[in-house]
Amino acid sequence: MIGLFGGTFDPVHFGHLRPALEVLQGLPLDQVRFMPLHQPVHRAEPQAPAALRLAMLRAAIAGQAGFQVDERELERRGNSYTYDSLCSLRAELGEQVPICLLLGADTFRGFLAWHRPAEILQLAHLVVMDRPGTAALPEALDRWAAPHRCDHQESLREAPAGRILFWNVTPLAISSTQIRRWVARGGSPRFLVPDAVAALIERERLYRHDGN
Ligand code: ATP
Repeated sequence: MIGLFGGTFDPVHFGHLRPALEVLQGLPLDQVRFMPLHQPVHRAEPQAPAALRLAMLRAAIAGQAGFQVDERELERRGNSYTYDSLCSLRAELGEQVPICLLLGADTFRGFLAWHRPAEILQLAHLVVMDRPGTAALPEALDRWAAPHRCDHQESLREAPAGRILFWNVTPLAISSTQIRRWVARGGSPRFLVPDAVAALIERERLYRHDGN
């Protein structure tokens, strides 16, 4: 069973890494593929160039068994559609392997506005990780999700796609926005990101100007 975790990772932080590790080891998954987005559809341009977001991600996960980087969105150019990435991952892995798309609860709240959400669920399970500060699910989403919800991780193994699991993770109220703002004000990102990521932010003088 494979996990796919898309994000801007601008920069990657412990609020991504620890929940992903808990999903990897808790479900468990064979691997979690971190997939940096080239250009997210629903938000502003990333601040750090793709090559540096990728370098930070590589540095962050180095040495962690089961963690990998998936570069397919960066290679594609243009808008990042998770649907397209899942089609290509599905073609690679075949019809039978369960794929779990990892999402923070805040991201899941906007899921029905994504490109082809129903088709995404035909290609993968959704594993929703709670995130501090996230409001309750909108009613329409709750109703849409209800028939697909499962209560146990074993259910994910019984089908290649189509189920939604809410998974408790250690709550870490860290966001990339908060880190960028902090660094723009002259602060250090240490203890919010792995040391190797903090070193890259410092060396490349990333996020020095507040653009959010
Ligand atoms: P930004 O502040 O720039 O919006 P972010 O911190 O939300 O960034 P992203 O790269 O946009 O990070 O997030 C990628 C994925 O990780 C999303 O599904 C998001 O919900 C999830 N995520 C990010 N931070 C956390 C966290 N602290 N706890 C749980 N999930 C998180």
